Amino acid sequence: MRPRSALPIRQAAGRLAPSPTGGLHLGHARTFLLAWLAARCAGGPVVLRIEDLDVSRVRPEARSGVLDDLSWLGLDWDEGPYVQSERLATYAEALERLKRADLVYPCTCTRADVARAASAPHAREEGPAYRGTCAGRSVADGERLARAGRAFAWRFRVPRRRVGWVDLVRGPVVFEPGALGGDFLVAREGVGPSYQLAVVVDDAAMGITQVIRGDDLVPSTPRQILLGAALGHPEPEFGHVPLAVGPDGRRLAKREGSVQLAALRAAGVDPRRLVGWLARSCGWSERVEPSAARDWIGRFNLASVPKGPWIARPEDVARLAEA
Ligand code: ZN
Repeated sequence: MRPRSALPIRQAAGRLAPSPTGGLHLGHARTFLLAWLAARCAGGPVVLRIEDLDVSRVRPEARSGVLDDLSWLGLDWDEGPYVQSERLATYAEALERLKRADLVYPCTCTRADVARAASAPHAREEGPAYRGTCAGRSVADGERLARAGRAFAWRFRVPRRRVGWVDLVRGPVVFEPGALGGDFLVAREGVGPSYQLAVVVDDAAMGITQVIRGDDLVPSTPRQILLGAALGHPEPEFGHVPLAVGPDGRRLAKREGSVQLAALRAAGVDPRRLVGWLARSCGWSERVEPSAARDWIGRFNLASVPKGPWIARPEDVARLAEA
């Protein structure tokens, strides 16, 4: 086990962890603004990490657009960008530690979740709980399968216990053992780590103390807490920001066009109006006060963010462009 002293010693650090699968939209803007403000308020650095492990979804040309979107919003960073696809050796080392501790086993089931494991499971991508079909296998069985050239994945043995945390946005959250989704994937043999393993390894290696992200990742959090504990990492604080939806309740990620920051930028929208609108949506002001992200460092409050989905109305989006 890695000694704790090898981790960066810091009071607080937050992160922005975009996946370069496309440009950022209004929902990302709100979540990243909150993550950035929380880190800046705690006085710690902001770490930028590019999560590009899912080669089937990542568009390499999207990376610079994401950085432009963040900069346009007034969100800067002190460290990074760290790039996950350049850190595979670190994830492989963590997998070896899990094998040595007998905390993983090989799974040969062909399931959709195996194919998608490199991506964060967003809303409705959770799939059914894994039933433990391969749980009787050992690490040595995995080594035999690898020598025989068989395709398989490694699953983490989820302990049967409750997992809870005090969410910075939602308050106390508890998952009973039956709600954890079963033993989850940490790597595909010969391919690379899952999203869950990469995030846990990186958050610890980068000294992250505060994880603020979209609330469709709530089901991933108990897994990351268990995996972090198994690897001996300090547990960060978590805060989950409600999703952004259109007036019909569909999530913004599934729409195109006007809700993309690149489109707003191209239409000449003043990012100060956008920040002011986001701040009002979080309950920090009555009116839209055109403002810079940094103007809210001393005035924002995670607890006042409404707990339900944020409805981004087209008329409000259209108003952004009126100078
Ligand atoms: Zn299996």
